[in-house]
Amino acid sequence: MSHVLHRQLKFPLPVAVGGEGCWLIDRDGRRYLDASGGAAVSCLGHGHPDVIAAMHAQIDRLAYAHTSFFTTEVAEELADHLVAHAPPGTSHAYFVSGGSEAVEAALKMARQYFVEIGQPQREHFIARRQSYHGNTLGALAVGGNEWRRRQFAPLLIPVTHVSPCYEYRDRRADETPEQYGQRLVTELAEAIDRLGGERVIAFVAETVVGATAGALTPVPGYLKGVRELCDRHGILLILDEVMCGMGRTGTLHACEQEGVVPDLLTVAKGLGGGYQPIGAVLAQRRIVDAFARGSGMFHHGHTYIGHAVACAAALAVQQVIERDALLERVQRQGHGLAERLRATLGTHPHVGDIRGRGLFWGVELVADRATKAPFNPARRLHAAVKREAMARGLMVYPMGGTIDGRRGDHVLLAPPFIVSDAELDAIVERLAAAIDAALAATAA
Ligand code: PLP
Repeated sequence: MSHVLHRQLKFPLPVAVGGEGCWLIDRDGRRYLDASGGAAVSCLGHGHPDVIAAMHAQIDRLAYAHTSFFTTEVAEELADHLVAHAPPGTSHAYFVSGGSEAVEAALKMARQYFVEIGQPQREHFIARRQSYHGNTLGALAVGGNEWRRRQFAPLLIPVTHVSPCYEYRDRRADETPEQYGQRLVTELAEAIDRLGGERVIAFVAETVVGATAGALTPVPGYLKGVRELCDRHGILLILDEVMCGMGRTGTLHACEQEGVVPDLLTVAKGLGGGYQPIGAVLAQRRIVDAFARGSGMFHHGHTYIGHAVACAAALAVQQVIERDALLERVQRQGHGLAERLRATLGTHPHVGDIRGRGLFWGVELVADRATKAPFNPARRLHAAVKREAMARGLMVYPMGGTIDGRRGDHVLLAPPFIVSDAELDAIVERLAAAIDAALAATAA
């Protein structure tokens, strides 16, 4: 019997003992093709020799020094690298140990910024439904994932949620994508007006929505419109790229493709590629300047922020991505993945939408393609797809509640940047078989 309190208590888990490239290996020698990078984490796959060597070297030198006493060479070097490659105006990186911590830190940075500049009346966040920003209380409060929030609702700060940018379901037939994006900006403008623009701290959004809705890409002009609206009211824009950032969509930051610079940008998963737990907030100079001119500190911190081995792993991951031109590879293999998905699943009677960018793709499953009607949630199709995929040696990231936290099923794919053509073939072949098997297994 396991003494680990696992995420779920009903089914035993295989025991992972090894990893090689895009593959994980369990104790019985079974091999699993990691088509989701876990949860869009393992961007370089498993066992990358350069990352492992960098971690060994750092451990031999220094594993840990508390950040209230020291900085380290490796944390400085990582921050230099990140700032050099960040959106214009970014001046600092604040290191944490994961995505939720990055979002918490960003929320507090945003609030402290307004306290420092004499606008303490700003105390409200606006975010979107069908988003995920993490499981700690602040991040959960801004998140718009109903089933994750429901039982903890009494503990969460009040946050206003507006519509996600969900073209497949919400764009009207008589609208262009641009008009739909503008309608969403108008909805946000109305929410701001209702609250009073001078009371809002920030608007928080995933540039490309990941786990909750399956790779929802923004329509052209939407985020630009959001940026302009925020600027008009002096509201900060926090883009959460914990999942979609660090190269996943084919550019280092997903917001580059939108022509938008956020005030605070959160990154995590692909930053360290799973080799160490690490996340970061990338902050614009004017925010850090306000701290420097005012109280002289950011009123926040955890014991393990800026951990030297975590920074060494992340630095090595980012250097490999640059050295091996992996962003170009993400674009190339991303096209290959999209083509294969469309060829194999594009006319499947229960595939409603195939969407994504780079190596970040979502397949939305529907009961009826014509009406887009979802499956009965009681069928738990997403769970069956995960089970059938694992049985076929394939890791994908399916989720239910795609539409509103209850209805809808999708499968998220986020393979390592090093994925080969043969591995892309195997991913799509095994996924199609898993979907058909799941449909058969859950049929009434
Ligand atoms: N933000 C986004 C967009 C995420 O996808 C996630 C995790 O999936 C988080 C935040 C939380 O990150 P973590 O699980 O590392 O705390």
